[in-house]
Amino acid sequence: MRRLLWVVVFAVATVAVANDFFGIPILGEPKDEINAIIQNLIKGEREKASGHFEHLKTTAPKLARKIKLTDFTIPCADCAAGKNAQCEECEGRSTVVDPHALRYLQYKFESALEENQPVESAWAGAIGALNVRKKQVPAREIFQGNILEIGQDAFLMKADDGEIFYLLGCVTDGATIGQYFVGYRWPMPRHSHTYRDETGKPKTAKSYTLNLWWDY
Ligand SMILES: [Zn+2]
Repeated sequence: MRRLLWVVVFAVATVAVANDFFGIPILGEPKDEINAIIQNLIKGEREKASGHFEHLKTTAPKLARKIKLTDFTIPCADCAAGKNAQCEECEGRSTVVDPHALRYLQYKFESALEENQPVESAWAGAIGALNVRKKQVPAREIFQGNILEIGQDAFLMKADDGEIFYLLGCVTDGATIGQYFVGYRWPMPRHSHTYRDETGKPKTAKSYTLNLWWDY
């Protein structure tokens, strides 16, 4: 027991030294610590991120108990069919740290704080929104096709197999009709899109998104 205690004390001391060493500023406010965790994960600085998490545990233990570092990861889409020890994308972990997902999390968190929500509910809302998207990650599909129409942040597309679908979350600047596209898309079952075919008849197309980390 005593030995274990020393190990713990040593680990804590190491973190404290590491704080000074890597120049992790003591930010104090829980919202700043959460933002620092996100920012450091985006930059690939896992150690700094866990340093801020450790600090959050001491300054806001109640909030920190509701947070795990794995909350910040998303499922590996390449492993959607099952865990693959040989996966290069996640190195067999089946989860990945994704900068786009983290920016979305930060955006949701910051927006809630700007609405003067307390940090606890801002976090709960932000992680809730991220979790909804996380569930969609494994539904990723590959598509290829041409642009039929250019909308606002969206394209009406014709796939190689003839399927006409609406693709949200696109950067439309510089895009041209007929342009060929290959990419990943995620189904958006609750969004359907109406367009007119060559004869002017209204038709409904299924919607997909090119970017899961985007609010519609
Ligand atoms: Zn994987």
